[in-house]
Amino acid sequence: MTAIRANGRAAVTRLLALAFAGALASQAFAASPPEVLLQGEASQRNTRRPAVDEDRRLRDDRAAMVRTQIAARGIRNEAVLAIMDRVPRHEFVPTDQVRAAYQDAPLPIGHGQTISQPYIVAYMTEMLRLEPRDHVLEIGTGSGYQAAILAELAKDVVTIEIIKPLAEDAAKRLERLGYRNITVLHGDGYFGSESAAPYDAIVVTAAATHVPPPLVAQLKPGGRMAIPVGETWAQNLLLIEKDKDGKLTTRNLLPVRFVPLTRGR
Ligand code: SAH
Repeated sequence: MTAIRANGRAAVTRLLALAFAGALASQAFAASPPEVLLQGEASQRNTRRPAVDEDRRLRDDRAAMVRTQIAARGIRNEAVLAIMDRVPRHEFVPTDQVRAAYQDAPLPIGHGQTISQPYIVAYMTEMLRLEPRDHVLEIGTGSGYQAAILAELAKDVVTIEIIKPLAEDAAKRLERLGYRNITVLHGDGYFGSESAAPYDAIVVTAAATHVPPPLVAQLKPGGRMAIPVGETWAQNLLLIEKDKDGKLTTRNLLPVRFVPLTRGR
């Protein structure tokens, strides 16, 4: 994948237009390099405008979500709690799901996919122990919600989605919400994104049958990866850490249920 630089809104918009036009001709394929839908830059801070017309009920629902679903279940990291309280989850769900946006559940986002339960998003984020200088990879962009949470805590995020319309929608949504440090790619995340590797942290938000070797290879020494591994109905969330010498340790964190990590056709 060639690095494409974009500075400011006009360039990003132009880039999106180019990416969309090019999309008609290309299909996602196994090892083909991912296609850039939104180009972020680590040097660009988030310039998110306050969410428009966000009413008090949504803010109250979100505060209650943090208290009763996330803090109450043991998430202690102050930065994670603060970000979960600030990012407007209702902006990431289809309009007919806005009223359900702060419920204790995954929600449908179309194409048979879901936005993860808020607690799981917070839990995976906490386990990654992000630092402001971290370069992060997410597999399974979906709505873009987890990418936004990561982008608030890290230097920048590269996120890969295999379903093109979801990748396009997430790229548009993240741009509209003012995220300038997220790169959205369309492609098969099994292979990660070699051109932006290595990563301080990797999070996979779809369940794999095994840990993809390319993702392990793209993890920095000292890096952390959270990934659900297992069969359709019984998966475990694993935390894989690579030490300074490249030695891996794996911890089994908890049983989870994610949609499957599919492969390029
Ligand atoms: N993180 C998302 C939720 C992810 S749901 C959010 O915050 O909304 C899992 C997503 O992984 C789905 O959108 C699915 O299409 C995507 N996915 C599945 N297999 C994939 C693959 N091989 N590469 C990239 N994305 C994949």
